[in-house]
Amino acid sequence: MQVVLLGAPGAGKGTQAEALSKHLNVPHIATGDLFRAARQSGTEIGNIAAGYMDRGELVPDEVVIRMLLERISQPDAQNGYLLDGFPRTLDQAKSLSDALDQNNSTLDAVLYLNVSNEELVTRLSGRWICRKCQAPYHATSAPPAKAGTCDRCSGELYQREDDQEETVRTRLGVFEKDTAPLIQYYTSQGILSEIPGEGDVKDIESKMISSLS
Ligand code: AMP
Repeated sequence: MQVVLLGAPGAGKGTQAEALSKHLNVPHIATGDLFRAARQSGTEIGNIAAGYMDRGELVPDEVVIRMLLERISQPDAQNGYLLDGFPRTLDQAKSLSDALDQNNSTLDAVLYLNVSNEELVTRLSGRWICRKCQAPYHATSAPPAKAGTCDRCSGELYQREDDQEETVRTRLGVFEKDTAPLIQYYTSQGILSEIPGEGDVKDIESKMISSLS
């Protein structure tokens, strides 16, 4: 099964993707995580992406598309995948659709997590993430038991550079301009379900799972 999780930065895609990928038994593929890993290992893609990421802008389509197509060609993605943070532009969506066509496959569902702008800014500016396992925390709404330490793996928690308030506003503007048109694009294909992304995490998870059946 091929599923796309669509939503603004901070909508909860990472949190929901973890449960959903287990439920569907497919890998969770997040292009933001792939870029952060590429930066850490100093690869060519990582070096190209760095400036765009720090400014809160999108990495050029040709770079992200090349990276994503390579990732979904790996053996673990042959029975499907859950995409998080891709596609973010119409050109990316079309490339994904072409790649699926070539494999006589299709996109099964797009789940759009809808969260208000105010809530997104609050969430992102208090966000802490585990350096080791990527588990997300929030300074006020979901703090770890011990400050700075991951409850699950004892990894170190850090705040992303691009979660600074000004960069957050840029990222939300980019979402409105470049990514929001995908809502209409997938609605017209009849595969988009809109899920309210505020409230209890488990309730949101159940709504996402039931929208897939
Ligand atoms: P994320 O973790 O999904 O918020 O992504 C972090 C940053 O990585 C974004 O602000 C972009 O700079 C870059 N990025 C991730 N996915 C994409 C994508 N599909 N297209 C362009 N840039 C991306």
